[in-house]
Order: sequence, then C-alpha cells, then structure tokens
Amino acid sequence: MDSVEKRILIEALKNAVKFGEARDNVVIGKIMQDFPEYRSKFKELTPKIAKMVKDVNSWNAEKQQATLIELEPQALEHKKKEAEEKVLPDLPNVTKGKKVVMRLAPYPSGALHIGNARMLVLNDEYVKRYKGNLILVYDDTIGATKTAIKGDPDAKYIIPEAYDLIQEGLDWLGIDYDKNNVVYKSDRLNIYENYAQEFIHKGDAYVCTCDAEEFRENFKKVGKPCPCKALPIETHLERWKSMLDGTYAEQEAVVRLNTGMDQKDPALRDHVIMRISEAEHPRVGTKFRVWPILDFSWGIDDHDLGITHIIRGADLQKEGFIEQFIWDLMGWEAATILLYGRMKFSNDFKLSKTLARQKINTKEYDGWKDPRTWSLQSLEARGIQPDALRQSLIDLGMSQSGINFSEKWLYAKNTKIIDADAFRYWFVENPIKLDIKNLPKTKYSSTPLLHPSNESAGTRKIQLNTENNLASVYISRLDTTIQYSRDGSEIRYPQITKGTQFRLKDLFTIEIQSVHSKKVNAIFLTENLDPSIRKIQWVPYDSNIVVHVLKPTGEITQGKAENTIKFLPIGKIVQFERYGYVKIQKKQKNEIYCYFTH
Ligand SMILES: [Zn+2]
Repeated sequence: MDSVEKRILIEALKNAVKFGEARDNVVIGKIMQDFPEYRSKFKELTPKIAKMVKDVNSWNAEKQQATLIELEPQALEHKKKEAEEKVLPDLPNVTKGKKVVMRLAPYPSGALHIGNARMLVLNDEYVKRYKGNLILVYDDTIGATKTAIKGDPDAKYIIPEAYDLIQEGLDWLGIDYDKNNVVYKSDRLNIYENYAQEFIHKGDAYVCTCDAEEFRENFKKVGKPCPCKALPIETHLERWKSMLDGTYAEQEAVVRLNTGMDQKDPALRDHVIMRISEAEHPRVGTKFRVWPILDFSWGIDDHDLGITHIIRGADLQKEGFIEQFIWDLMGWEAATILLYGRMKFSNDFKLSKTLARQKINTKEYDGWKDPRTWSLQSLEARGIQPDALRQSLIDLGMSQSGINFSEKWLYAKNTKIIDADAFRYWFVENPIKLDIKNLPKTKYSSTPLLHPSNESAGTRKIQLNTENNLASVYISRLDTTIQYSRDGSEIRYPQITKGTQFRLKDLFTIEIQSVHSKKVNAIFLTENLDPSIRKIQWVPYDSNIVVHVLKPTGEITQGKAENTIKFLPIGKIVQFERYGYVKIQKKQKNEIYCYFTH
C-alpha cells in the first residue's frame, strides 16, 4: 500500500467509525482539503477512493476500529472522549437492595498475563460501579493426575509462588478485591466431597469404573448408558468410599453427574465431576485424592459465595451448562452469566503460563518479569502504566465476538501518561564509528534539553574532544542502509551515502566521504545547523555506555548511549530519541540493561 492509499484508507475508516458508514464524497473532500498535492490526481484517485470506501463499509465495526487503531492509534482518541463512561453496558438483573457480588478465579500456574487482564478489569469496573464485592477465589483444584504431570512437560499444575504473583499483579492493576475474604478451593475439598456424596445418594450422580477411552467410544459417542449406571445406589456409595480410601488408583473410577446420555451435545453426556489425582498439592499436600472438576466446584462455590454475576469468555459456554444443571438440581437461585468475546493476540504474544514456567526454569527468561511472558509483572517492568492497560481494555467493551487486541492502542495510551516524565537521551542502535576530519576547534559540546517541551527540566552536556583536528563518534549502522518498516512501506531516513550532508544533532554539519563496513569517514563543514539538512543521532566515541534493550519479542537491541544515563536510577523510564521508551533494569560493569517499553 503506498502512502496515498494508506491515507485514503485512514480517512475512510475514520468516517466509518464516526458515522457508522463511510461516504465517498466526504473522504474525497477530506483528502483534497488536507493534501493539496493530490488535487492534480483527482480523476485518478476518485475511483480508488470509491472502491476503498466500499471495502471499508463491508467490514464490521470491530474490524474497522481495529484497522484504524493499527494504522493510526491516535485517531480514536476523540471518539473515545465522546463515548466516555458509556463504554461498558450496565449489568442485567441487578436487584435493588441486593449487593452485586462477583469473583475472580485465577488458576495459580503462573503470574497473570495480559490475556487475563480484561476479565480482571471488567469485574473490577462493574463491582466499583455497583459498589459491590469482588471475591478472589484461587481456582486451585489439582490441575492433572500425578501420572500426567510426570509424563507430560506441558501438563497444567500449580506452582506455589503463583499465589503471591497473582496478588502482586492484581495490586499493580488496582483491582479492588476483598482482601479479608480470599478463598482457596483447596480449602473446600470436604465441601465438594459432601455434595458429591449427596448427589450419589440421591441418584443424581454415580461412580463409573469404565476405561475413559472405552466410555467415550462405546457410550458417550452413541448416547448409550454404560453398565455402571444401572447399578444400585448402594454399590455406587461403596465405590465412592473406595475412591476416597485409595482402593481405586488414578483413572480407575470417576464420579459422573447424571446429566443424561440423551443430551444432544456428546460433551454434556453424564459429565465427570470428581476424579482421582494423587499429585501433591502445594497447599494441602496429598491429604485429598478425589478432586472436583472445575465446573462442578463452581456450581457449588458460586452458590455458597453468593455470586450474583459471572463474567466468562464466550468459549466457556459448556461450563455454564453444568453449573446451571447443578443449580436446578439443588433448587438454587442462578447467578447471571455474561459472556464476552475472547481477545485475540498477534503471534508475537506467546501467552502461555506453561511455556513461561519452562523458560523461567531453564533461566532462558529473566523470571516472571521478563517481557516475553507478557505477565502483569513484565508490563510493570517495561514501564506500562496500569491505567493505560485498564483504559485500553475498557475501550474494548463487552462484545461477544472475538476482538483483536492491538498493543499499539495500549502504547498510545501509555505514551500520554509517561511522556512528560521521560527524559530524552541519545542512543545509537547497532553502532558504527564515524571519523570526522578538518575540525578547527579542540572541543565541541552540545547541551540538549532533557525534555523538548519542558525547558525547566534543564539540559545535559555531551562533549566531543578533538585531537589533531580529528574526532570520532558513533552513529547507528541503520542510518547507513535503507530500512523498511514491517509492512514494507516506510523508508527510514536519513541514509548515509558518499557525498551526503548531515547535521550531527545539536553539534555541527558534516559531509560524508566514504562508507565502509566498519567505519564511515566525513569532513567537518560548518557549525551552522541548517534545519533543511537532515540530522542524525550520535554519541562520543571515547565516552559512552553500552546498552542492551530486551523487547517482548525476545529481540535484543545493542547499542551505545550518552554517558549521562549512567547516573539514572534503576526503574527510571527514559526515551532514547528516535528509538523509543525504555525502563532501566540493571547496571553492570559499565553496561546498562533495559526493557523496551514501546
Ligand atoms: Zn461406567
């Protein structure tokens, strides 16, 4: 897509997002008004615009919005301001005089990550709106059987440190849960056992000893009851005892809820609600060996904890079925379940706690704060502000269809918050030496502002010494080659080639004489800084500091920065000009390690 086409697309999208539908004449008018250089191409552009407007109008609102965010993140700002406070719809079924109670249900297999954040923020926003109560329920029933955990590196299991990591993440994001009433499912095993026994006693559940594979193939698929089901209740109660006392081994018996083998959806036919796992639990050890399946525990807990509203991903509709089945069976009042569409992330995001856990264990990752985990800890470590994350998630609303999450939208919001305090420094990525001849003075210095829009913040001083009319600096090797942006359209300027003139930023003007693979040669021209001549970033050759920047993609940028950053404290967010924001992580042997903010 060339730049004209991109501009047309942006204008068409803006128009569509604002009015629900884009119109050719509006877009044409806008382009001609804002870009007089295109007026001569009016005839040629008109059909192009008409086609693009048609395309844009054929997309749904979400796609229009997502594409616009992708192309021009700031374009939606105005719209957002108009729609503020209207973004989240009210909760249904709120009864006057009855407190709204909602719950968070993290499984403690690692730190919370950006993919979990929407659910956290939605719950928190609603509870705040209705002055309700938000309960943190650790969904820490055993994840898998002992056999599975031993044999499968991808098996899901609880890691003891996750409990604290989760609370740390919630606190950072400002989630206001009830600190006096944190619930651990692992404390409630006796409760699940009692209900399971009651269900068996009443004939609403039974113990099945069929092989899982055999049950699936011969009974579940065809909708036929297995031989266990017809056995008398006394036998099932005995079998149940054998599950509890260890007579049965893992996978030898399960409790099935009598949902009926005639359910239309095979997945719902006599669903398993309790199973045996001898895996060790970080909190209760091996005290219990019969564990509930999640939807069974929820059916009980949501009632017991007085939950009024449940927000859940639209892909978890089946879980709602089992809960409702249990509520009906017990004659309990049903909570209101709200489904929202899952956020979809680009492939750059590897949102897997299991993967993160493995990479952290092998020390490939820098702990849970490593940017590659996308954990809430990692966002904090990168300098993402909780309010920027919260706002970008609220903007997505409660739509039931899947929504693409654009990190650009988050970054645009974050920039607004951090920019005023982020001082500017010079940094050259992938440095190459530049020798400058014919320098008439022995010393040059530059005193750029720490912040371009805040003179009172002061300046810093960067000095360049010359010897025999010669001096050397580092510039970025990227400036010596043509660089394309990811979509292939944009060329990074300037490109340094023989005979071209440049301003070394805030220093003097040079002319390039030759470009080699390891060095660039130039001559001094003048101390005048003509703004029409392109400027390049530099740092002194004999006085700089090595900087490593880790990005969430795992890419590490190496470069050199001006020495003045040596004195900055750990945790400081700064902007490397022409590169981006970074947050300082550690200093070691005259080298600085940073995480990339954006
Ligand atoms: Zn059976």
